[in-house]
Amino acid sequence: MTPRSIKLRLVGWYAGLLACVFLLLCTLLYLDLRNFLENRLRQTQTRRAHQLATAILAHAKQTGEPAVINEIKEWYAPESNGRFIRVTRADGTLLYRSDPPMDSSFDPAQVPPFQLPPRADFLRKETLPGGHTLLIACLDFKPAGAAEYWVEFGALVDPVEDMLKHLFLQLALGLPVAMGIITLGGYWLVYRALRPVEQITGAAEKITQLNLSDRLPVSHSDDELERLSLALNRMIARLDDAFQNSRRFAADASHDLRTPLTILRGELENMVEDSKLDRELRARLGSLLEEAIHLSKIVEQLFTLTQLDSGNSCTERKRFDLSELARTTAEQMSLLAEDKRIALTCEAPQPVWVEGDRSRIKQVIVNLLDNAVKYTLPEGRVLLRVEIINGQARLEVEDNGIGIPADALTHVFERFFRVDKTRSAGAESAGLGLSIVKSICTAHGAEVKVASTPKVGSRFSITLPTAGN
Ligand code: ADP
Repeated sequence: MTPRSIKLRLVGWYAGLLACVFLLLCTLLYLDLRNFLENRLRQTQTRRAHQLATAILAHAKQTGEPAVINEIKEWYAPESNGRFIRVTRADGTLLYRSDPPMDSSFDPAQVPPFQLPPRADFLRKETLPGGHTLLIACLDFKPAGAAEYWVEFGALVDPVEDMLKHLFLQLALGLPVAMGIITLGGYWLVYRALRPVEQITGAAEKITQLNLSDRLPVSHSDDELERLSLALNRMIARLDDAFQNSRRFAADASHDLRTPLTILRGELENMVEDSKLDRELRARLGSLLEEAIHLSKIVEQLFTLTQLDSGNSCTERKRFDLSELARTTAEQMSLLAEDKRIALTCEAPQPVWVEGDRSRIKQVIVNLLDNAVKYTLPEGRVLLRVEIINGQARLEVEDNGIGIPADALTHVFERFFRVDKTRSAGAESAGLGLSIVKSICTAHGAEVKVASTPKVGSRFSITLPTAGN
């Protein structure tokens, strides 16, 4: 999966978005719960302070203070409920203060006296020496015709804080785990959703002009991917049609041109040799003959290419010695090289057995040697070599000719490509020789490579599987 993969981006967005939503939800939940619990605690303490005042202290005059103390103990049992209660008279003397709770979590004697705020009814928090915090509701109770008291009713905030801490921990640990599960689940979903795309891509990569009749897999899921593969298949079918048409046209044209061209050549040859004709006319007919020969060569090459394209040209697959074929072909072409005073040597000492269409492979050697001679200056040298390298048959044609510029190297195997028309002007060239080489090599499962340096020379090498030596 590359960093720019659509899967990674989708999962990244999805996980990022969910993480934000979860974080927001958890924060809201935590804050809301904290508010709710603290409010409840405040309300409870305030309510109890009022309750104590109205239900017990209001009758202090009638029942007497000792009875009030007993009633408080009886009603609220502060020691067993972990509560803090303190009742102070208006003059500051203590009427009642609860004892330490049973778990001794705090000492009521250590709760500092309250500072009078401007209001008669207020809440405060006191942190005690042991680290515990009390939330205390404070009430100034002044019934008509009776004595004034300050009532303090408190409870520990710790249970609320413990609960919030616990919740925070659970959320802090649970969120990454949940995110991990969600991310993995998301990746699995995206992977499943995009698997057909991978299959379509893989199949599309394999489609070339040689197998345009193949089609992409269709998922039959009645979704966008099915429509995409169907649309691509229709496009491939249209391309296939166009290719077939142009192939048929080239095949028909080159086939139909061969016969009239042969007749034309024959007639021209006869006329050139006819001594009864005027010398000047024969010379002009001679140059016409040269053009006709050039034209028939191009037509022949086109015809060969159309046959190779149709895929039924390399039917004759036989085992033969590539070294022997190289030696005989080099010998046959030595006259061509001699004409240009070029030293053509062949190094093919040991038999190298390959399988394929012998005449087609011969055509490859002829085209490569022909080019090497064509693009090498007189007194140059051309070397044809056949050997086995890493268990593969290797055929190389090397020359010290004019070479090919770097920017043209990738194009030399294209049809009708000529590096520079001026440099091959004298030669019979149409830019089809190397396309034929490439097509034959492809049909034989061979790889063809070129290395060249201008003004130094070129090397064409072909690697093809051996057929047991
Ligand atoms: P052409 O019929 O023009 O030679 P090819 O397809 O055989 O067509 O070659 C394509 C082009 O590659 C040629 O125009 C030529 O410029 C260049 N080329 C091929 N072989 C050689 C070589 N051995 N040295 C230099 N240039 C070459």
